Amino acid sequence: MVFDLLHYICPPSGKQYRLFGLGDENCQCVQASDGWIEFRKNRHMEEFYATDSVIGRGADTSEISRDGVNPTGQFYILYTRRPDGSLIYGAPWIKRLMSVGEKFHRDCRVIRYNANGTIVAEYDDATDIVVNAHHPRLTFPQSGITIEDVLELQWGGEEVYYYANGYGLVGWKNLRTGQGSFVGVLSATSFDPFPHEVKPRPRVAQPAHSVTVISTVSTLISSVATTLPEGTNPQQVQVNHRDGLWLLGMPGTGSQHIRVMGFKEVVTVFSEPVVPSGRYNWQRVKTARGEEGWSAAVVDNIPSFVPVEGDSGSVTDVVSDAVTEIVEEEEGLPDGTKPQRMQVNLTSGIWLLDNPGVGSGHIRVLPFREIVTVFAKPVVPSGDYNWQRVKTERGEQGWSAAAVGGTASFVKVEQQVPTGFRLESPVAVPAQIMQRFGVNQTGIPDFYTRFGLPAHEGIDFGGRLGDPIFAAAAGTVLAIAIPGESGVALDHAYGKHIKIQHNVGGQIYETNYCHMSSIAPGLAVGQPVTVGQRIGEMGNTGNVVAGAVHLHFNLRKKGATAAGEKQKLPDGTEVTYKNDLVNPGPFLG
Ligand SMILES: [Zn+2]
Repeated sequence: MVFDLLHYICPPSGKQYRLFGLGDENCQCVQASDGWIEFRKNRHMEEFYATDSVIGRGADTSEISRDGVNPTGQFYILYTRRPDGSLIYGAPWIKRLMSVGEKFHRDCRVIRYNANGTIVAEYDDATDIVVNAHHPRLTFPQSGITIEDVLELQWGGEEVYYYANGYGLVGWKNLRTGQGSFVGVLSATSFDPFPHEVKPRPRVAQPAHSVTVISTVSTLISSVATTLPEGTNPQQVQVNHRDGLWLLGMPGTGSQHIRVMGFKEVVTVFSEPVVPSGRYNWQRVKTARGEEGWSAAVVDNIPSFVPVEGDSGSVTDVVSDAVTEIVEEEEGLPDGTKPQRMQVNLTSGIWLLDNPGVGSGHIRVLPFREIVTVFAKPVVPSGDYNWQRVKTERGEQGWSAAAVGGTASFVKVEQQVPTGFRLESPVAVPAQIMQRFGVNQTGIPDFYTRFGLPAHEGIDFGGRLGDPIFAAAAGTVLAIAIPGESGVALDHAYGKHIKIQHNVGGQIYETNYCHMSSIAPGLAVGQPVTVGQRIGEMGNTGNVVAGAVHLHFNLRKKGATAAGEKQKLPDGTEVTYKNDLVNPGPFLG
């Protein structure tokens, strides 16, 4: 299983808790307005930032003390060293996506300061951090508190850290000295507002970190990809294409790229499900590095993988050509310079630089959704980044980190969604997606067609009974439907549900939240709601397969059906849904 460590190490709106042991600290991770995430501990803090690929750290003011433990008062800041020796505030600390057993080597410059800001010491620091274990439930013997979903990390061979999903650091111990802290109180109600007075240095954005916020489209895709059914009949096979084979986030050549798996690379392929699309049959693939995605397992009826034992030595060049064609479709090969109109897919923007490499001269930050021309070749790999040439519509030319940790920074222009309307997740993140839009995983062939729907008409988010549901955008409550009341059929398929209307510059949208167990007290038809407002709780009322608690979330765009607006399904077909139903996926941030 691959974990997104962001939700464990520094969840941007983390829950409050208290640590005991070495000190007694009120703790919470908070997203600051400048994009940094502050892990606040009483009046101290540790600074974090996140890119698509790494979590980094800036200052740690924990050593400033008023209790005599550190009478001089010190803090330190981690810096990244540029090739020319200059320093960038902040340094990668660990990878975002990791599996148990995986190790990260971090290398940074540490400067220690006095409380008054003068330098006390300066040195390079290289350490390994290993993901030791994942604990579905972990009980801290000192307090008896049990927390679910905890990752255990070991740092430098000496200290063990426990990070809980949605909280942050909930415990640590030094294996040598036996010192440590442990969570003692959860969700205390009387925390002070963390008036953290220590702001050691102005924090500056720089290119390596300009890709701070996760791109909207790719986030959704990756969360879908990792929550698909496990697949059956895993088989160890090897890639049988001289040119390698793409591992993608979803079935379909237009999907997010993970990476090209090398010729003869041994991977696990799941024989089910098979998603046919044109000349390709897509199947789920898991690599030895723990990456999960989809590949064209069959191209023109020729398999892309061969059994490991049966290494015949003969390569099927026919297949190889076919696969090159997939790559061409995506990258504009073969002349290597074929330009493609793309848009920036990082909400924080991305740097345009004079040359490849983070140490290069800055031209400017290309903002989110700016349309530019990206040249498929050359690709200059450097560490976590793949640099490609970029030309702007103003005529500027330079280089950008077109891929960061394997995640694309640009998406095709056609994937652009209306800028005026964004949806926030209607459930807490990390969201667990049980069923995407446009598929039928119920096991009942006519589950949707009997309602005149080509396939699933929304997104199903998993969760537990009573989990909160939030308004996905600001709007007005259009309906509160309770089966058996006010003309709502007792057997309404949506069970208890709420409709919220959104007026976006005259375009009317409607979000629908179904199968709820309860409606937030006081919520009434006609009432305005704010984005993120708690509107009720998750349940399993209405037409729910096997009683599975989940939120069925769908979106209507007034006029979409009459206009014949097409919804692209995961299998590649395009259909118009009735009742103005559209895919909420591209709107979700
Ligand atoms: Zn559903």
